[in-house]
Amino acid sequence: MENKDCLFCRIAAGEIPSDKVYEDEQMLAFRDIDPKAPVHVLLIPKAHLSGVRDLTADNSAVVAHIFATVPQIAAKLGVTDYRVLTNNGADAGQTVQHLHFHLLGGRTLGEMG
Ligand code: 5GP
Ligand code: ZN
Repeated sequence: MENKDCLFCRIAAGEIPSDKVYEDEQMLAFRDIDPKAPVHVLLIPKAHLSGVRDLTADNSAVVAHIFATVPQIAAKLGVTDYRVLTNNGADAGQTVQHLHFHLLGGRTLGEMG
């Protein structure tokens, strides 16, 4: 485990259970505990990054990897129209300080706020 105080590191390590929909050596996708849409999955790198703020040219390949899994995860969950978003910082709505992308779908999504 990279960070014993980080909720999503603990989920990635299997220390806290989650409803997994996809996993490989670099990332994990699991259902959000408080879904905002019929499909609401969180996609996280297993390696700890606090958010977009931590990304650099040297560590960001995992972001492309995560995005490359989105079509197959969406297909598995039965959605063709969806939104992928990430919040960086408290004013943007970030509550867990481990980089994660929300995959939302299964209903008509409103405009971006
Ligand atoms: P944020 O607000 O940081 O963009 O997104 C954090 C997300 O993590 C929220 O949508 C919240 O519902 C979800 N979340 C918080 N704690 C847990 C948990 O223990 N398990 C799961 N599966 N999701 C969680
Ligand atoms: Zn973490």
